[in-house]
Amino acid sequence: MAAAADEVVMIVRNVTERKGAENRLAHLAFYDPLTDLPNRRLFFDRLTAAITSGSRRGAAVAVLFLDVDGFKLVNDSLGHVAGDELLVAVGRRLAATLGPDTLLARFGGDEFAVLVAGGAAAEASRVAERLLDVLRFPFVVEGRETFLSASVGIARRTLRLADPHDLLRDADTALYEAKATGRNAYAVFAPRMRTAVLARLERETALRGAAERGELRLAYQPKVALATGRVVGAEALIRWEHPELGLLHPAEFIRLAEETGLIVPLGRWVLREACRQARAWSDAAPLHPALVCVNVSARQLREPGFVAEAVAALADAGLDAGCLELEITESTVMWDVPEVRHALRDLHTLGVALAIDDFGTGHSSLARLRRLPVDALKIDRSFVAGLGRDPGNLAIVRAVTVLAHELGLTVTAEGVETAEQAAMLRALGVDRAQGYHFARPLVDEAVGELLAREARLPERAGAAGGASAHGMPEASVG
Ligand code: C2E
Ligand code: MG
Ligand code: MG
Repeated sequence: MAAAADEVVMIVRNVTERKGAENRLAHLAFYDPLTDLPNRRLFFDRLTAAITSGSRRGAAVAVLFLDVDGFKLVNDSLGHVAGDELLVAVGRRLAATLGPDTLLARFGGDEFAVLVAGGAAAEASRVAERLLDVLRFPFVVEGRETFLSASVGIARRTLRLADPHDLLRDADTALYEAKATGRNAYAVFAPRMRTAVLARLERETALRGAAERGELRLAYQPKVALATGRVVGAEALIRWEHPELGLLHPAEFIRLAEETGLIVPLGRWVLREACRQARAWSDAAPLHPALVCVNVSARQLREPGFVAEAVAALADAGLDAGCLELEITESTVMWDVPEVRHALRDLHTLGVALAIDDFGTGHSSLARLRRLPVDALKIDRSFVAGLGRDPGNLAIVRAVTVLAHELGLTVTAEGVETAEQAAMLRALGVDRAQGYHFARPLVDEAVGELLAREARLPERAGAAGGASAHGMPEASVG
């Protein structure tokens, strides 16, 4: 008898254990191990269930895809452990924002999905806004504040017409659109977006071969020393001579190039071409070697071979490192990526100047700059534009200039469009300026000519107007 009782206990225990193991397996199959949120599979099941159970009632269902902007960069700078911790925190914050009628899932990486059952069309947008809002507060990871933003794509259908696969695909397309039109935004799917996605793919393919087909050009915008008006150098600005669409400005393809990684070969071409051009200018005017400024994306700086490529570009062109300045757009997190720090240090050691572009638009502070081997900063056009109108802007430009000088940095003002702005900047002690007031982006010969005759800008009608005659339309995209 006793044996039988033991057996029963054993069986019960086995069954319980097996049940426990089965539950754990089931849990693993339907939940994301990192955040413990439902995974893609459970999300899909619930979406399908919502559609089949409610299809008679004419109600609607919405799917939201949320993707953290630039998460890869955050992950690279913080390390994967902290990156995981951040994802868990993001998941918690999103979950806490959502009501009981929603299902939050993690699809993997930095991608989350929300199922909103029922509700009006506006409800899905409101959910998206709330999600974006809560992510705006900084996250504290390893004792440091990290700022995030995200993009959201929304697809909504009445249940009668809904197909789970279509909804997921459309939400993904809308997310793509939200990313493409600027981050920290949401987009609601519309059929025209599929055409847009296809167009983007087409453009990506075209851009891939643009350098080999000789469709890329550089325009050069003169930089002027404010104290004398002398042209001291020029910034290389890329243009794409598209076979069907005509001349495209960076606003139409740089982001695409960054997102696809095409910026790496493209930037390599820019660097080589700009160095070659600068050497030609200095050959023509050997007494006044000009500075050539090249824009560099964070993505390029993180490439392991970047410094070696810069060295090769200088060597092949026979250009002195002191004639090259790299303009890097400020972004909070990238400075902490070890590869970026090393690249900056090595470039600085080589004698290449480093400038922070669009200063004032991101989160980087002068305090942070002090710890980086940076030589110059460019005050963003938005501050310059407000100079005459807004006393706040004047105060900002003054303070930034004073502090930058204290730190030994050269200050350039971008987007100077009027004589009044130029005069104010000169009075504030800003070192260099660029903008339509002095010259538009020009073809290389026009800049070579300005440099060779040691031109002072602005001059009487002539130099700047000459550009269009050379067939290079002016740039006005910011
Ligand atoms: P950026 O480096 O801040 O360049 C200044 C932009 O402002 C240029 O636009 C220029 O044409 C425009 N600009 C210059 N003066 C004025 C002015 O007085 N008023 C106004 N409204 N605009 C002015 P562009 O050529 O369209 O370039 C846009 C951005 O694309 C650049 O901003 C830069 O971030 C990026 N970019 C350009 N070339 C390259 C490149 O070769 N590589 C990379 N990674 N990015 C590039
Ligand atoms: Mg620039
Ligand atoms: Mg700029």
